[in-house]
Amino acid sequence: MHLVDLTRRCAAYLVTVVALIVAAPVSAQTPDFQVWLEALKSEARGAGISQATIDTALADVEPIERVTELDRKQPEFTQTFWAYLDKRVTPERVARARSLLATHKDLLAQVEARYGVQPRFLVSFWGLESNFGDYTGGFSVIRALVTLAFDERRGKFFRAQVLDALRIIDQGHISAKAMQGSWAGAMGQVQFIPSTFVRHAVDFDGDGRRDLWNSLPDVFASAANYLRAIGWRGDETWGREVRLPKGFDFELADLRTRKPIGAWQALGVRRPDGSDLPRADLEASIIVPAGHKGPAFIIYGNFHSIMRWNRSILYAIAVGHLADRIAGLPSLATVRPASEKPLSRSDVEAMQTMLASLGLDPGTPDGVVGAKTRAALKVYQRKIGVAPDGYPTYEILDALRQSASAAPRGD
Ligand code: CA
Repeated sequence: MHLVDLTRRCAAYLVTVVALIVAAPVSAQTPDFQVWLEALKSEARGAGISQATIDTALADVEPIERVTELDRKQPEFTQTFWAYLDKRVTPERVARARSLLATHKDLLAQVEARYGVQPRFLVSFWGLESNFGDYTGGFSVIRALVTLAFDERRGKFFRAQVLDALRIIDQGHISAKAMQGSWAGAMGQVQFIPSTFVRHAVDFDGDGRRDLWNSLPDVFASAANYLRAIGWRGDETWGREVRLPKGFDFELADLRTRKPIGAWQALGVRRPDGSDLPRADLEASIIVPAGHKGPAFIIYGNFHSIMRWNRSILYAIAVGHLADRIAGLPSLATVRPASEKPLSRSDVEAMQTMLASLGLDPGTPDGVVGAKTRAALKVYQRKIGVAPDGYPTYEILDALRQSASAAPRGD
């Protein structure tokens, strides 16, 4: 579109908006939003979405304050490994998952035959995403996504999600009204965002609609189809808990360090009971998500697929562990610490600031432990002679405070 055209169109919207303000002085909507919404409708028309869908789905939409609040909310404390896992893999959930696996055995077998994803993993994703369909979210997906798209922070991403959501409605898979989901637009029993739905959801029961809200054949097949697309291997598992040898070099405990299982075996890594690692010819990594005092895991390619579904190491372990428990495998062998004191956001931010003052690069101090912060922590830990696991603890924070207070006097 030429700039002149654009200017003309903007001018036209302004006229519309001025008219609206005059006609409806009590409207809570800002003029900016109406201009923005008209441009969105125009883009949707340009993308081939029918006027009927645009009129129905975008009628009376306005930003939802609660969605903006939830989007901006930052957790006060970092999530600890055990708190995360214990909340998600409960004995009740394991029992229900096993019972549901039996109930839907035939359907899950058909889906496995077609897409190559083991039933226990499909049930695990289903349990973690929506508690087996209990909680699929009560927000209007269109309204939630419009709110996030209008917000400049991640507007571009969510604008594309709105357009995909409109496409889904336009194709008749679900009505605008029934399209409910999370505040961030995740939908149905496996919580697909619209772009994932458009690319990977499938109609497995053959009724012509891809229905992730009400059709279990569609739910399982869509999850399996997506997993296959992001590299899932149906003849492999996700990983397993391991025991590390004394003197293990924690520099090697990193998602990006991959070695054949045999190489880890040669380094002394064993199963928790001391027996050998499997003799499969796989590339694997070792991770210690709760630091060197917590459990260690050897992880395979499917673990990376789970992280493509949701970029969280803790989520990936929860999916894998729940799938194992569904198969009757035991809970983790590592003993839980008597208490876990999670670091607060401001503690993490202080840690990041001090790491930076020591000339390291922990990323922008934001209170969130990411890859850069972990890498900087490893460098610092090695410097002070403790296990370089990149895991933030109060001990490290204290050590950093001492280093920082020593620095000005220093040599
Ligand atoms: Ca269907």
